[in-house]
Amino acid sequence: MINITLPDGSVREYDKGITSMQIALSISEGLARNVLAAEVNGEVWDASRPIEQDSTVKLLTWNDAKGKSTYWHSSAHLMAEALEALYPGTKFGIGPAIETGFYYDVDFGDIQFSSDDFKKIEDKMIELAKTKSDYIRKPVSKVDAIEYFTEKGDEYKLDLIKDLADGAITLYSQGNFTDLCRGPHIPNTGHIKAVKLMSMGGAYWRGDESRKQLTRIYGVTFPKASELADYVHLIEEAKKRDHRKLGKELELFAFSEKVGMGLPLWLPKGAALRERLTRFMQNAQVKAGYEQVITPHIGHKNLYITSGHYEKYGADSFQPIKTPQEGEEFLLKPMNCPHHCEIYKTKPRSYKDLPVRFAEFGTVYRYEQSGELHGLTRVRGFTQDDAHLFCRPDQVKDEFKKVIDLVLYTFGALGFDNYTAQISLRDPDNKAKYIGSDETWALAEAAIIEAAEEKGLPTVVEYGEAAFYGPKLDFMVKDALGRKWQLGTIQVDYNLPERFELEYTGSDNQKHRPVMIHRAPFGSLERFVAVLIEHCAGNFPLWLSPEQFTILPISEKYEDYAKKLSDELKNSDICGLIDFRDEKIGRKIRDAEVKKIPYMLIVGEKEAAEGLVSVRRHGVGDLGSMSIEDFKQQIIKEITV
Ligand SMILES: [Zn+2]
Ligand SMILES: [Zn+2]
Repeated sequence: MINITLPDGSVREYDKGITSMQIALSISEGLARNVLAAEVNGEVWDASRPIEQDSTVKLLTWNDAKGKSTYWHSSAHLMAEALEALYPGTKFGIGPAIETGFYYDVDFGDIQFSSDDFKKIEDKMIELAKTKSDYIRKPVSKVDAIEYFTEKGDEYKLDLIKDLADGAITLYSQGNFTDLCRGPHIPNTGHIKAVKLMSMGGAYWRGDESRKQLTRIYGVTFPKASELADYVHLIEEAKKRDHRKLGKELELFAFSEKVGMGLPLWLPKGAALRERLTRFMQNAQVKAGYEQVITPHIGHKNLYITSGHYEKYGADSFQPIKTPQEGEEFLLKPMNCPHHCEIYKTKPRSYKDLPVRFAEFGTVYRYEQSGELHGLTRVRGFTQDDAHLFCRPDQVKDEFKKVIDLVLYTFGALGFDNYTAQISLRDPDNKAKYIGSDETWALAEAAIIEAAEEKGLPTVVEYGEAAFYGPKLDFMVKDALGRKWQLGTIQVDYNLPERFELEYTGSDNQKHRPVMIHRAPFGSLERFVAVLIEHCAGNFPLWLSPEQFTILPISEKYEDYAKKLSDELKNSDICGLIDFRDEKIGRKIRDAEVKKIPYMLIVGEKEAAEGLVSVRRHGVGDLGSMSIEDFKQQIIKEITV
């Protein structure tokens, strides 16, 4: 008999050679129907693989990330089976699962293939899935594996086998298809109920441009047709909300090849939006005891040698700028922390002075490969809402709580109400790889956990995910489409205070090292605005909206009245423009709707004569006519909510 420990800590006895599927069956038939694979001693296995010794077992279903990934990888095998049936002689490269779905790199030889053929393949996959063929694992010798794929004539698999050790090679078969694969897979193809091939493209074999280009086909599968329908809807909605598309339509930002890739240009409306976010954060920070500082965009190379950035990232960064006379080297600032450490050192600090909190909207530059650049989410120059807190070890918990308050206040004002906090701690089995004493780490880790608990945050704890220089807390936000974004990081740092020899005088009159905390609720303004655009589909909260109203005169006769209204609203800090174009009112309304301007104020003869405005709210419709005073009050009420 062997002992099997389950995730709830319970231990059950089974015969040696029991499979995870049999364990599931012994618990409930319903569970067994949903088991896709199992994690055995931390490794994902086929549910049909015999377990020979005492083990911890976690059964994996569609609800587990590892279960999904096994499912999607198995779907790649199913697609290969369909391709082989429809296009005999097709050769196969690799077919992994990806974040959502899977791909397979294939060589069609002389066959012409296009996305018009997707439907045929999808149908074949469903037909094959219905046979409920088991995925059968077969360990083989290297010689036998080579013989099999030589006979089949698949040079890509032979190329892969070359690098494998004899004794560690397995083949998997389902239906009429056999693949070289280390597994694991789901029990049978019957779990796959809905299929969609998403796109295709070229991919060099083994990522090597000198080798053959294969066809990469992306697909996604689901255990229910309704889940596929939801997914397709999500993709369409995401396309509509793409910040690159809306950024252009709403005239927020642009890119210019002449200026340089990955360097966003903020247009007037985007700059207005960004200004408001900045002011919002500055006001909140002043209330929370932060002091604003300003540092230059470049720093001497020695600064980054001291901080360790040069050694770690220097080769992959923008290269140093040299002064023409002295040949001194400067780097574009990749982060603000080293500058802030030098600000800390400008005067002696006592334990009574701490904490000090330096905040800066610091623009930093990081080299990203051109292929990695993406709208505002991956850029080469961006502005962080950065701050560094320098405190005593006994102040870490309080500082964390205050930063959590600030982050939650920000999320609340911007409509992000679905979040979890991920706490990243040391790997308890490998403490040597972290800098700082065991004692300070234990203190900081406990402080973060307690702070999160006292603030009632929903948390997940990840061991081994801390940086080598300190534990951290990250906020993971779900947007309106259920997509996850990491926003807001609070990071403890024992490394920089050491490297910059930061000190304070303690109550014992001795010198001590302060603890440094990095934090940025938005992260970068660029990325935050991108997430915000996609979250609210460009319908910003009124207080943030760069153009809160547009006045639409029915004809030029009412322009003077429109100007008078506009001035009056501007005097109350409500901003907007007048549409002076010689267009029909219907056209003006439609254009304002496209620009997602919150309020449209229509003025004609009646309004001008009686001192009224006819109000339309974007996404709502006609609100009727009201006095300008009532309209002002309505806006002020909405902004302050
Ligand atoms: Zn496989
Ligand atoms: Zn920092």
